[in-house]
Amino acid sequence: MVANGTAPRPSAATHTLSQRYLSTRGDDVDFSFEDAVLKGLASDGGLYIPEEIPAAEGWESWKDLSFTELAFKVMSLYISPSEIPAEDLKDIIAKSYSTFRSPETTPLVHLKDNLWLLELFHGPTFAFKDVALQFLGNLFEYFLVRRNEGKTGTDRHHLTVVGATSGDTGSAAIYGLRGKKDVSVFILHPKGRVSPIQEAQMTTVLDANVHNIAVRGTFDDCQDIVKALFADPEINSTHKLGAVNSINFARILAQVVYYFHSYFALAKTNPSFSIGDKVRFAVPTGNFGDVLAGYFAHRMGLPVEKFVVATNENDILDRFFKTGRYEKKAPTTAVEDAGVKETLSPAMDILVSSNFERLLWFLAYEFAESAGMDDEWNKKQAGQEVKQWLGDLKTKGGFGPVYQDMITSARRNFESERVTDAQTVDTIKAYYNELGYVLDPHTAVGVAASDRSIKKADAAVPHISLSTAHPAKFAGAVELALKDEEGFNFEEKVLPAEFVGLDKRERRVKEVECTWEAVREFVRAKVSEELGA
Ligand SMILES: *Cc1c(COP(=O)(O)O)cnc(C)c1O
Repeated sequence: MVANGTAPRPSAATHTLSQRYLSTRGDDVDFSFEDAVLKGLASDGGLYIPEEIPAAEGWESWKDLSFTELAFKVMSLYISPSEIPAEDLKDIIAKSYSTFRSPETTPLVHLKDNLWLLELFHGPTFAFKDVALQFLGNLFEYFLVRRNEGKTGTDRHHLTVVGATSGDTGSAAIYGLRGKKDVSVFILHPKGRVSPIQEAQMTTVLDANVHNIAVRGTFDDCQDIVKALFADPEINSTHKLGAVNSINFARILAQVVYYFHSYFALAKTNPSFSIGDKVRFAVPTGNFGDVLAGYFAHRMGLPVEKFVVATNENDILDRFFKTGRYEKKAPTTAVEDAGVKETLSPAMDILVSSNFERLLWFLAYEFAESAGMDDEWNKKQAGQEVKQWLGDLKTKGGFGPVYQDMITSARRNFESERVTDAQTVDTIKAYYNELGYVLDPHTAVGVAASDRSIKKADAAVPHISLSTAHPAKFAGAVELALKDEEGFNFEEKVLPAEFVGLDKRERRVKEVECTWEAVREFVRAKVSEELGA
């Protein structure tokens, strides 16, 4: 029996393959995958990236693998077996995707001509964030249980996850973490300001480690409260706070898998497409996590002609790919209109994209390489540049244009499209009328961008458009688009059986004042209740 938690763990040195992680801002280097996952954000404020994007050697031979087998192949290249032995990683993956309703996990459906839709919404909360958060939840539990082997009481490493949500992230995080050992999860939402379905999804989860907090305030207030908690020395001295927002590298990693999976699915159903041919992916984008995962897949070897970054009217990324400048507000925007705009695709309503920092690092690294110095210098240089830019973003509201070579390099892989609310509604209508398919508003932004890309691109290049949510999650926008269409009935055409009666189930939610101290007291009380139990 192992008495004190020093369970034998092989050291990295005993294995040849060892993937390490560094921060995009250059000060923090040489982290394990476990550290990168449990910390989330590096202490210099940067995001973790692997030291090398691994090549997927022989990836063509993966074509007949199931989703979970493919996930193992991809993830093994990022997680050293010295950190998670192969059999354990396989178990974590199997558990994570056993909750999906589709046998293919992320099925590819043919819409028309050379347009396919990658349905990412067959997980427990009906949105693509499940692909990453089901995995992250099991990963947290795995690491904590291992750290706690043989420990009891207050010696145990207990993680207190705190997050704010305007809807999608919160429900996916709750379903990812419900019932997990040694983790408590607190999700703050603005009272009365999330969609009824999302509120019901979150608050009907009754597991003892799940705590919904309805804040009497706005989403921004919720975010400010979370930031204040992470900055509070008092709670940090007694609790280990964890984050589940999209900066966590494990979330990116899980999303790499479906780019490979959909590519192979396309080859299987489309006789004129062979392994090795190029595709285009159109990705509805907010924090740039989803499309960044695609970029990783491409750098690993997947033949992608272009990623079409589709934004709504919060278009900082579209402006970057067109001008090379990354600025919170467009030069033409009046000061009073400079905040986040509320659109029909709320999960993409952002002012800046947190994961874009990772792409910037890779672009800066590539640029540094052209100076012909050694690799260590190139990495340092990239970190310095990123730190400078992000500093300017904070103090001056933006930076750029970046070096012309960087813009050229970005455009080799990315194109962008900005889609308005009116165009989103038109797209939902058009696809319903032509094909009888109901798109959710986020997916519609991507499909509108695909339509434009198809007109511009080589006619032979197939397009895979990512579908990020089930339309029933965004009933308001879908009803707005389709209420006057002949024969349309939301209950019949859209509502999945799982949502029926959800609004009548028992709920647990704590309403609190809009102050971070009130939230802190609640967190403390609940965690000690859980630990005492
Ligand atoms: C989070 C989310 C997005 C945006 O994904 P990013 O990784 O932040 O770019 C798009 N659609 C839906 C439905 C989402 O929940």
